[in-house]
Order: sequence, then C-alpha cells, then structure tokens
Amino acid sequence: DCCVCMGASIGMALGMEKARGREFARKTVAVIGDSTFIHSGITPLIDIVYNQGTTTVIILDNGTTAMTGHQDHPATGYNVYGQPAPKIDLEALVRAIGIERVRVVDPLDLKQTRQVLKEELAAEAPSVIISRRLCVLRDKPSGELYQVDKDKCTGCRVCLRTGCPGLEFREEKVIVNSLQCSGCGLCAQVCAFEAIEKVGDSHA
Ligand code: SF4
Ligand code: SF4
Repeated sequence: DCCVCMGASIGMALGMEKARGREFARKTVAVIGDSTFIHSGITPLIDIVYNQGTTTVIILDNGTTAMTGHQDHPATGYNVYGQPAPKIDLEALVRAIGIERVRVVDPLDLKQTRQVLKEELAAEAPSVIISRRLCVLRDKPSGELYQVDKDKCTGCRVCLRTGCPGLEFREEKVIVNSLQCSGCGLCAQVCAFEAIEKVGDSHA
C-alpha cells in the first residue's frame, strides 16, 4: 500500500503500470474520494485512457467531503451554501473521458463488491468502480444496532480485520461498542459463526 497526497493515486497507478508492466496492473487499484476525484482525479484518468493504461480506479462516493468537514462539492447537487446546484454525474463523466468499464457497487454488499473488484482487476482494460454509500457521519442511526452472541463467538478475530472502531476484543471475545457502531453490518457479513446479529434499526 502507498499513500502520497490528495489526488495522487490515479497517476501513481498508471506510473506503476508503465514501470512494472501490465501484469502489475492486474493487482493494482487506485483509490480516491468523490470530492478529490472532482478536485484532481479527472486529469490523471484522462492520462490513463490516453496512455492506454489498464488499471482499476475506485471512487469512494460518500456524497460529501468528509475529511475536511463535510463540505459539498460539484457531485453532491448542492453548493457551499447548501443550496441546490447542478450535479455532476460521475458515471457520465467517467464514460465521457473514455472509460468503457464503469461499475457501481454498494460497499456494504461485500459479496457484490468482491466480485466486481475481481472482474475489473482481471480485465485488460481501464476501469472505474464507483463505490457509493452516503457517509455514515451524515446518516448515522443511534442506539444498539448490532451485538455479538458470546456463546457463538470463537474469538477468531476475523471481524476485527474490517478495522471498525466499534469492535472491541475483551476476554477472548469480541463485543460491539454501540457508541461507535454505525450499523453497517460488515462485521456480520464476515463472521463465519453467525455470532454477530442485528438488533436495531439500521440501514444495512
Ligand atoms: S468473526 Fe465472529 S466468531 Fe470471530 S471474533 Fe468476530 S464475532 Fe467472534
Ligand atoms: S455493524 Fe459495522 S459499524 Fe457496527 S460494529 Fe459491525 S462493522 Fe462496526
């Protein structure tokens, strides 16, 4: 993994493909947020098309600029004052640049996301996957949403690989911290022992 600066991922992925060859692009993805794509991701995507790269770009479309304070941007449909504004259609924009393989996934559907990622990485053509789901901080339900059945939890820690701060490992078992849990359901999808269950009203 490497992380450089805002908007660098797409150009870096193309550079790596040119330096290491097409086979390297079969295991490389460039990840960029929706607002950063608008800010500085369009020109390197043009570079990929023009220079006949084949890498895969994932645009994390969470409908806001989360890292700097939830500002709107040209693909949200609102201006900086929160007033309705023309909305850039990301799929249409990417296609207009010349990307023919454009996929949209729900990142909370792990099975679909994994399958699409597998297909696009294997393709000998440039592709863009738009991972679309509103930022959890914009739309976070409250209360107890998921919980772990201690009798079923084996302590295998697989769910911890999601990196979710709402999961805590205590006394060889995992528990859900309801203050941190947004109810995404990802941990329940990866638990092979069905130890994590939905108990509240969430979006997933
Ligand atoms: S994946 Fe399931 S069984 Fe494994 S630690 Fe998490 S909750 Fe427990
Ligand atoms: S449901 Fe989502 S947010 Fe809640 S603990 Fe599991 S992975 Fe974390």
